[in-house]
Amino acid sequence: MAQKMTSQSFIEKEDRYGAHNYHPLPVVLEKGEGIYVWDVEGKRYFDFLSAYSAVNQGHCHPRLVKALTEQASKLALTSRAFYNNKLGDWEEYITRYFGFDRMLPMNTGAEGVETALKLARKWAYKVKGIARNQAKIVVCNGNFHGRTITIVSMSSDPDAYNDYGPYTPGFKNIPFNDVVALEEALSDPDVAAFLTEPIQAEAGVFVPSDGFLKAARELCDQYNVLFIADEIQTGIARSGKLLAVDHENVKPDILILGKALSGGMYPISCVLANDKVMLTIKPGEHGSTFGGNPIASAVAMEALQIIKDENLAENSDKMGQIFRKELQAIKSEMIVEVRGKGLLNAVTIKPKNGKTAWDVCLEMKDMGLLAKPTHGDIIRFTPPLIINEAQMKEAIAIIKEVFKKMG
Ligand code: PLP
Repeated sequence: MAQKMTSQSFIEKEDRYGAHNYHPLPVVLEKGEGIYVWDVEGKRYFDFLSAYSAVNQGHCHPRLVKALTEQASKLALTSRAFYNNKLGDWEEYITRYFGFDRMLPMNTGAEGVETALKLARKWAYKVKGIARNQAKIVVCNGNFHGRTITIVSMSSDPDAYNDYGPYTPGFKNIPFNDVVALEEALSDPDVAAFLTEPIQAEAGVFVPSDGFLKAARELCDQYNVLFIADEIQTGIARSGKLLAVDHENVKPDILILGKALSGGMYPISCVLANDKVMLTIKPGEHGSTFGGNPIASAVAMEALQIIKDENLAENSDKMGQIFRKELQAIKSEMIVEVRGKGLLNAVTIKPKNGKTAWDVCLEMKDMGLLAKPTHGDIIRFTPPLIINEAQMKEAIAIIKEVFKKMG
């Protein structure tokens, strides 16, 4: 009988045959259910990453498994060369859900962002009247919108853009959360759009000052510029409201969603906008073989309905408050700051005795909780939004124990 493979052997295999474009924590997972995942040795962990906020509804949510498998066994993919009997339902459902006229379906987050950029440029030339090839899009330093050449062209992180030039022109970077810099940038008549994450998640969970999003919305109106919200990570109840822009009652002109749009079942992203923006793109001018396929349509509708049925925005808000209060009370020289909104939280770590945020994550792993450092010294804590109070207390006890041990 073949010997069961150990974690180490799986790690060695990836290391040997895979590209080295990630640096994973040394844990090999084979099963997930709700807020938990299990490794190949059978050890159970709290998942406090949730696949970068894709698994908001919890691992292998039974309703999502059912939606996926039922649709997969009936009709998986037609391409958009033909109609299918699911896409229209999803389009109607999601436009009502978020209050937009129309939706354009894609697969990954980066494709959703690319779609939004294309829409903004089309609108600039067809509606705003910017001279051809002159449109600019204003973005924020510290942004993370994905990994394509165009998207890394607007990144301020050398790890993201170094050695990938030449870059796509047409972007203007300004500091995040800076209304003065934003107004100055938007006053350029060639600006088509302002693209931002309402909370900079990958950068380390940076929440802008109260009023920034509202001010940005007003400035966009004043200068006839589209407000594009990238809610791929912050949206779908992660920040304690359905969308992070809802904290300031702001409605973007273009909304980009991904990740939890499928509850982690399937790569699904989409862009929402009203007619005046969406109808600038005509047949044949943009698309994707898989975007809007029947499986994606069925899964996305179910994933969004679960958010409502299980009151996950409310739970995210409530559990997030408990989490921040308890972590802020920890006395540790290693904790510099605890910040976040809802269940999108981060802790900035000061190394001690040569131990860094990475070592804290290794220690938490050994104690049964998975989280991952971002930008070296920040640990993001983003459990599935279905976590209940008893489970949250148990997870917090593990985190407390780790800091007690490490100082
Ligand atoms: N935009 C934001 C805000 C993200 O957090 C991410 C991924 O982390 C992306 C875009 C890219 O999404 P994907 O990895 O699905 O392309």
